[in-house]
Amino acid sequence: MSTHFDTIVIGLGAFGSATIYQLAKRGRAVMGIDRYAPPHTFGSTHGDTRITRLACGEGPMYTATARRSHEIWRDIERQTEKQLLVQNGMLLISGAGRRAAAHGKDDFLGNTIDVARHNGVAHETLSDADIRRRFPAFNIGDGDRGYFEPGAGFVFPEDCVATQLKLSVPLGAQIRIGETVTRIEPRGGKVEVTTDRGLYTATNAVLSAGPWLPQLLPQRKSLFTIRRQVLTWFAIDGAVMPLAQYRPEKFPVFYWQVPRRQAIYGFPWIGDGEPAVKLAAEQYDFETTPDTVDRNVSEQEIRDMHHDYIAGFFPGVSDRCVKSAVCLYTCVDDARFIVDRLPGQPQIIVASPCSGHGFKHSAAIGEALAEMACGHAPTKVSLDAFRFETEAA
Ligand SMILES: Cc1cc2nc3c(=O)[nH]c(=O)nc-3n(C[C@H](O)[C@H](O)[C@H](O)COP(=O)(O)OP(=O)(O)OC[C@H]3O[C@@H](n4cnc5c(N)ncnc54)[C@H](O)[C@@H]3O)c2cc1C
Repeated sequence: MSTHFDTIVIGLGAFGSATIYQLAKRGRAVMGIDRYAPPHTFGSTHGDTRITRLACGEGPMYTATARRSHEIWRDIERQTEKQLLVQNGMLLISGAGRRAAAHGKDDFLGNTIDVARHNGVAHETLSDADIRRRFPAFNIGDGDRGYFEPGAGFVFPEDCVATQLKLSVPLGAQIRIGETVTRIEPRGGKVEVTTDRGLYTATNAVLSAGPWLPQLLPQRKSLFTIRRQVLTWFAIDGAVMPLAQYRPEKFPVFYWQVPRRQAIYGFPWIGDGEPAVKLAAEQYDFETTPDTVDRNVSEQEIRDMHHDYIAGFFPGVSDRCVKSAVCLYTCVDDARFIVDRLPGQPQIIVASPCSGHGFKHSAAIGEALAEMACGHAPTKVSLDAFRFETEAA
């Protein structure tokens, strides 16, 4: 086996799988390395579904990458006949004051509406009466306001990862799973990648190691904070609300700034299994690492989730949790992404687009990373807002 490549992709989760697929499509001699066998449950890309929306309250720079990702996923769907993206709409609900803040922005709903208007994203703004009439499964408060984006919806993250990896192999990509990268060292205009099994060289490397990134990038470690997140699936009580109200056609994905410490977001009942909705509240209070994180969800956490975020807000959702999972956010201040060449070491390209909202951009950012690794600027989207330097600004 050759040990020299054009590009080595380190970490094959959401971003690495998208990047290796795009590099293989471009005929690049590419190898991907992952310490586990993606898709897996140890990083940031599991739990069945991820919200996608074109108008992002996080900022206007995110619309192009979400839009381009939709195009790429639809193209992959045509090639594979596998569904990756469901556009059943997204409902954003907000209240006044502190409740309006989310993902580093004081008025997340207002920002979302502005971004939608400026970027030609089809949407509706809703009053409390509109929300009650159209979405009876949500027990909202008087004066709450809503934004509905019909072209938004959800993506199947594990299938996206698996499909892009699968497509890249016949295109010539080499994939090494169960192999851990221990060092990445620029050497003589190239890059040396050391693993627990060998030494490889490449013209450049894409570092997309998700929550393990700080370990592989000690000089930039302080930029990233890893936060444990809990996902829960609660059974629907069909005696209180018809089950049909929770199907994707009636129950959009949503992000709801309830009058609690954090917002709650969730997904409809999908598939043929037990009727249940996936619901989660974000957690920004504690830091962790992928090596030390508690990967069990306790009974107390489930009780608290139901008490604080479900009872009172979702009349048809029972207190029976049918499934739970722990997942990791890699956060950068202001819920920002970092996707850039490492300053002073341009043969290493770093991709940390998480901050709790990265997946919807992964296919397009993978394409842009591939273009960068091929030596030119991204042609479909701009990554200017995601540079290392803007961090200090
Ligand atoms: C609970 C939760 C909910 C989310 N909800 C949404 C949402 O609704 N919408 C949205 O757009 N985004 C959402 N996100 C964010 C999105 O899921 C992430 O941005 C994205 O999955 C991050 O992917 P990644 O490729 O950076 O990391 P990962 O997918 O974790 O991939 C990193 C990979 O690197 C590998 N690796 C690490 N270290 C090494 C090493 N030393 N050697 C070899 N391989 C290594 C790991 O095994 C892993 O496979 C959510 C995230 C979480 C955790």
